[in-house]
Amino acid sequence: MDKAPRAFILQGDRKLGVHIVSLRDDASALQDDLVRLRHDLHREPELGLSLPRTQERVLTALQGLPLEISLGERLSSITAVLRGSQPGPTVLLRGDMDALPLTESPDGDRPVSQAEGRMHACGHDLHTTMLAGAATLLSGRRDSLKGDVVFMFQPGEEGHHGAKIMIEEGVLDATGSRPVAAYALHVVSSLLARGRFLSRPGPMMAAADTVHVTVRGLGGHAAVPYRAKDPIPVACEMVTAMQTMVTRAFDVFDPVVVTVGSFHAGTVDNIIPDQARFDATLRTFSEANHAAIEERVVGLIRGIAAAHGLEVEIEYRPGYPVTVNDAAEVEFVAGTVREVYGEERYLPSPQPFTGAEDFSFVSGEVPGAFVALGACPADRDPANAPYNHAPDAAFDDSVLGDGASLLAELALRRLATTGPAPDA
Ligand SMILES: [Zn+2]
Repeated sequence: MDKAPRAFILQGDRKLGVHIVSLRDDASALQDDLVRLRHDLHREPELGLSLPRTQERVLTALQGLPLEISLGERLSSITAVLRGSQPGPTVLLRGDMDALPLTESPDGDRPVSQAEGRMHACGHDLHTTMLAGAATLLSGRRDSLKGDVVFMFQPGEEGHHGAKIMIEEGVLDATGSRPVAAYALHVVSSLLARGRFLSRPGPMMAAADTVHVTVRGLGGHAAVPYRAKDPIPVACEMVTAMQTMVTRAFDVFDPVVVTVGSFHAGTVDNIIPDQARFDATLRTFSEANHAAIEERVVGLIRGIAAAHGLEVEIEYRPGYPVTVNDAAEVEFVAGTVREVYGEERYLPSPQPFTGAEDFSFVSGEVPGAFVALGACPADRDPANAPYNHAPDAAFDDSVLGDGASLLAELALRRLATTGPAPDA
């Protein structure tokens, strides 16, 4: 059996006086430990809000570090607080820990999930590892830390609102003072070159709500439709009207995406069914549009049903809000990346990602920056490598050290400043 990694231990005299060894160097000394932890997590992925094995592994990795640890009640989260030797504000670092319900396609000698139907296909095993690494790095620099750091190890990012539950359980108040800034990294297996950090001010990830509609009519013979109440043309009108709504009710420069992904009605050509059903995803990229779209969609659907004298049942499910990055925090991240890793390592993103993220609940409460990190393996081309959530998505271990050290750098530097982000 693999020996469980003891708390990653940094040797040397980094606790004494001036640090001549950079966090980046420290992180490369941890690389083997980081890779081992990531592979262990990767082989044993867990889903949703309850990740007992993952929680256990992280606790083992944090053992011996000077952290105040509390565990979640409604989910297997870990909140770890590192108190700096000098008083100051709080910074929060977040890593999500859950996997996805799909079966991994093995590839070469890369570690593969041992659990059928479960896979770390979104790289959250790397996020967990990088956050544990950052906790180790910062524990070794406690004497230079001018404030406190909250490490938020979060289950249930993939649609289970884990961040929201952790907030309800008090993660933002873990040190007694609200974080002045929160940072999260997300690896991508494609599109972005390995080792590049990418972010943008303002909207970074979409909000994604869903609507589930049942139009209730009256079945009958297809030859005498006037004696029935046909739900099919009415439901079709709703689908078309929603597409028209996208440009007629919303500014094209603040885009809205509406896709009806499922539509079901009837059995054969000569029977009018008594109901039609459809489901749609509604993606928005601003808080204003996210706030407006439910009323627009529900009003439109009800109005069309009423116009034809049919009943309609609408189930509207709000998903994650828009992930909005604080402009000053993004500037601060960009400056830090450029200074520590080199000019070419930071890329400003021209547009938001269309995926959704529950870090949005954190960045809705405190200024935050959500940052993508390219992790395409060296033997693949980022232009066409399988993307996150694919059964053959793969992420390169080589980014672990830089991910861990960037999180640590951000906390260390941000705490050394007071007030809003320094480069604002
Ligand atoms: Zn993810």
